[in-house]
Amino acid sequence: MGLFSKPIKTLDDLFVHTLQDIYYAENQITKALPQMIAKATDAQLKQSFELHLQETRNQITRLEKVFQMHGQPVKGVTCQAIDGIISEAQEIMGDVSDKEVLDAAMLSSAQAVEHYEITRYGTLIAFAKQLGRNDCAAVLEENLAEEKATDKKLTMLAEGKVNRMAA
Ligand code: FE
Ligand code: FE
Ligand code: FE
Repeated sequence: MGLFSKPIKTLDDLFVHTLQDIYYAENQITKALPQMIAKATDAQLKQSFELHLQETRNQITRLEKVFQMHGQPVKGVTCQAIDGIISEAQEIMGDVSDKEVLDAAMLSSAQAVEHYEITRYGTLIAFAKQLGRNDCAAVLEENLAEEKATDKKLTMLAEGKVNRMAA
């Protein structure tokens, strides 16, 4: 049974498990972002992290709504992927001394987080639709749209200035 608290037999079980996985991940992200906000030098990067922390809190509320809509208790399961991405980010943050290079490092770590979230929400939306839960899919689409917009904004910041300042 591995790390799962409950055996996964059906697509519905897998949907709920994946919801628990992203719920855990979003909560870990809210714990990691304040440190990144504190360490960011570029004002726009700092502001992007601050905005996304606020968005992440709203995303958690939306996930709680999806659990309720699907008649499931609000619960997280350990996501080793997000734990790994965050611990890698913290490790590199501890290793980089130059503040402009640190901005580029944190930005790249943040994009790794967004990409993980984008895959999970894409899967959750597909599962929800397959299960006839277009209502759940619509709520999850709101989170996906924010993750995609954040990723895009981070790419623009990296290519527009953060990487150049670091070079
Ligand atoms: Fe998120
Ligand atoms: Fe996961
Ligand atoms: Fe995100």
